[in-house]
Amino acid sequence: TDYNVIMDDAAVRRALTRVAHEILERNKGIEGCVLVGIRTRGIYLAQRIAERIQAIEGVSIPVGELDITRYRDDRKVVEDDSTTVPGEAYPIEGMKVILCDDVLYTGRTIRAAMDAIMDHGRPAMIQLAVLADRGHRELPIRPDYVGKNVPTSKAEEIQVFFQEADGIDEVRISHN
Ligand code: 5GP
Ligand code: MG
Repeated sequence: TDYNVIMDDAAVRRALTRVAHEILERNKGIEGCVLVGIRTRGIYLAQRIAERIQAIEGVSIPVGELDITRYRDDRKVVEDDSTTVPGEAYPIEGMKVILCDDVLYTGRTIRAAMDAIMDHGRPAMIQLAVLADRGHRELPIRPDYVGKNVPTSKAEEIQVFFQEADGIDEVRISHN
């Protein structure tokens, strides 16, 4: 498998700083907003964006996490290993929920995430931030904030590395 680096650490850093600014601009601050990362790498993304918002605006934004395994419509195995329940671990009622995930592909994960959120309360709004949008949507879902649009073939795969888990910030596209 060979690959190309499409974002190095500086590119990741700049993209996340831009996305933080876009979130602040769109929402006129972050009052009433909560960032919800989709396990696993969406959580790192949410935490990174929260750090930047804190640095830029001097205010902290709640960060929650979501495990959507049991909500996916295309997976047969039903398992509930989530430890954080929306609405209990973090607020969603009346909040502007900003879902965060590393890669957006068919949109099924985000549909499931929206189901999970709305099973636990009634947010004022749901927005979507992703580090990479690789296209091939199968549902009418589009991101509000995109680190990088990466046109891919279905045979290609995006690899996301975060410092916290992988010791490096990098996004690659691999060709099989
Ligand atoms: P979707 O549900 O939109 O088809 O796929 C998005 C979910 O699957 C995300 O949670 C993402 O982590 C994962 N995913 C889909 N395609 C890729 C990819 O090319 N690379 C990585 N790293 N994750 C992907
Ligand atoms: Mg994922």
